[in-house]
Amino acid sequence: MRPEILNPLFATVSNLKGVGHRRAALLVKLLNRPMEEEARVLDLLFHLPWQVIDRRLLPNMAAIESGKTATLDVTVGAHTPSRRKGLPYTINVFDDSGELTLVFFSAHSDYLKKQLPEGEIRRISGEITAYRDSFQMAHPQYIAALDRVDTIPQIEPVYALTAGLSGKILAPLITESLNTLPALPEWIEPNLLLEHRWPSLKVALSEVHHPQDFAALEPDGPGRSRLAYDELLAGQLALNLVRQRLRRALGRRRRGDGSKRRRILEALPFTLTTSQERSLEEIADDLGRPDRMLRLLQGDVGSGKTIVALLAMAIAVESGSQAAIMAPTEILVQQHYETLSPLCKASGIRLGVLTGRIKGKARTELLEDLKIGKIDILISTHAGFQEDVQFRELGLAVIDEQHRFGVHQRLALAEKGNNADLLVMTATPIPRSLVLAAFGDMDVSRLLEKPAGRKPVDTRIIPLDREADLLLRLDVAVKSGARVYWVCPLVEESELIDAKSAEDRFDALQSRFGSRVGLVHGRMKAADKNKVMSDFTNGVIGILVATTVIEVGVDVSDATIMVIENAERFGLAQLHQLRGRVGRGTTKSSCILLYRGPLSKNAEARLAIMRETEDGFRIAEEDLRLRGEGDILGTQQSGVPGFRLVQLEHHAGLLETARQDARHTLSQDRLLQSERGKALRILLHLFERGEAIRLLASG
Ligand code: ADP
Ligand code: MG
Repeated sequence: MRPEILNPLFATVSNLKGVGHRRAALLVKLLNRPMEEEARVLDLLFHLPWQVIDRRLLPNMAAIESGKTATLDVTVGAHTPSRRKGLPYTINVFDDSGELTLVFFSAHSDYLKKQLPEGEIRRISGEITAYRDSFQMAHPQYIAALDRVDTIPQIEPVYALTAGLSGKILAPLITESLNTLPALPEWIEPNLLLEHRWPSLKVALSEVHHPQDFAALEPDGPGRSRLAYDELLAGQLALNLVRQRLRRALGRRRRGDGSKRRRILEALPFTLTTSQERSLEEIADDLGRPDRMLRLLQGDVGSGKTIVALLAMAIAVESGSQAAIMAPTEILVQQHYETLSPLCKASGIRLGVLTGRIKGKARTELLEDLKIGKIDILISTHAGFQEDVQFRELGLAVIDEQHRFGVHQRLALAEKGNNADLLVMTATPIPRSLVLAAFGDMDVSRLLEKPAGRKPVDTRIIPLDREADLLLRLDVAVKSGARVYWVCPLVEESELIDAKSAEDRFDALQSRFGSRVGLVHGRMKAADKNKVMSDFTNGVIGILVATTVIEVGVDVSDATIMVIENAERFGLAQLHQLRGRVGRGTTKSSCILLYRGPLSKNAEARLAIMRETEDGFRIAEEDLRLRGEGDILGTQQSGVPGFRLVQLEHHAGLLETARQDARHTLSQDRLLQSERGKALRILLHLFERGEAIRLLASG
């Protein structure tokens, strides 16, 4: 299916020089492809630098500033070897205007004597710090003799890295990837190229990876905005193709007699909120029409989307069809099952559960039941997308926490029912203006208020060095039966990002609290994860140390304390999601944002917003605003799903152009057969929207 011209880009990274087993594994991690065996050349090319370092030569030492990178030609002075373990090896260097100390910890003196021979001139580049009255440079990043100064890049791109994979390893890999990039036909209209002064894709990528000036990385500079436009256009084309196809297939009127809904409502220990009722009316209205529903249900964490989904599915069941709800993780599937099964029992709805763990006879039987209609509602992970999963008649497909699923999966599910309606649910409070970019042209329902009885969460911002006080308080809380989440940002110890791993934290807490502590992270087996989660739900353990696997949708209503370690490393949207895990029950809850100082201005502002408000939409907007100020972590972990090159806070302006472009193009060239149409097919494959092309084939 994929055009051959793209093969070099979809080749795995082990085809590159210098990538063996170990680096391939690091690249999987760095390039964020956790489900894959290996990253691809394309992933490297799309790993854009987020900053540049100016390494242009300074006139002399009088021009250096503390905290900045300096590149200088210096004369090497005296070496002072380390006098005892723990003390640095220092070298004095100078020019006509001043002097500076080079500082090396655990240095090899032979090496340093060779690199920096006393009395010679060398070009050095590194970060300057002020120490007492003088300047220092610890571990210069570059040292070169004057005939080798071209080994020092003048303007050096800086990439997000991972432990074991430095910029010096990454840069040549990216250069090699750029060399394998074929010349692709242009898919952007000539006048649009001209208007924005956009270069070709190949030039754009090389400019961004090999910046010649500072403008090269500006989000609205020609290179970056061209790349962003490519991605937006691919997205809009794919969404339009999906929509065209779904809309063309006729739906069915599904009205139902209300009998099952009534019994569910009777079994509920609460009444619906106004927003829940309104959303449900909108959904019922859509289902009752002959054309297909494509609706997005947006509601903050804890706003009660699940029950709306169940009632919507009940309409499908009442009208004689089946329904399916897909969630991104096994934990969530399990949780949905536990929430829904008593309500389904009360209303005579037959539930089935399908995950990757269900195999063999059990699976065969389940699929058979599904096919003959002995199951009314299927709850599943992405295992439900598999080809042999067939329904008697799928009437409504619900996708929970959409940002974990791609458009093609959405499509695969919708195709399981020839005329199934589609409800997509998300807790990501994307501003209305951006819904289109992220989800395409869908109708939107919103859950605005939280269910009654929800108490505000008391949010505190505490430095890590006050951990001891915190532990004292947790001790008291846990002894009186409180349930505590303790979230850590990484699974593995990383020197680069000095975040404590969940495992270390678990060990530390266990030595204090003993068996009342549990651990859950993404690398554990599903069965072990489920065991820990249910121990936590049942109160067998009081403190759950977790990585962000608990981020999405987990509901333990008795949990009242959320500790987020290294909170400064999380994006606002993510902090908001995490905080939403507490404050669900009747007791007062608190959220403790533990940070490692000193905080940047931006990080301080972000944490302050968390203390100020619990309104997800406001947080999303502030996040967008602050990310505009260039906070890399905020960008990477932003709540807006699915983009690799687009930074919506900068590129949202191109969205409307891309949308019109896609619509106009498809109205002229419905099957993408013109020259430009063929080029656009390549674009779709490049951004892995190739599935959308299948829709063309099937008319
Ligand atoms: P989310 O929108 O994050 O998926 P859930 O559907 O998991 O939220 O709901 C969170 C909790 O709120 C659940 O325990 C659910 O039973 C409860 N809940 C839902 N609707 C209401 C309501 N109208 N009144 C009180 N509690 C509700
Ligand atoms: Mg949910």
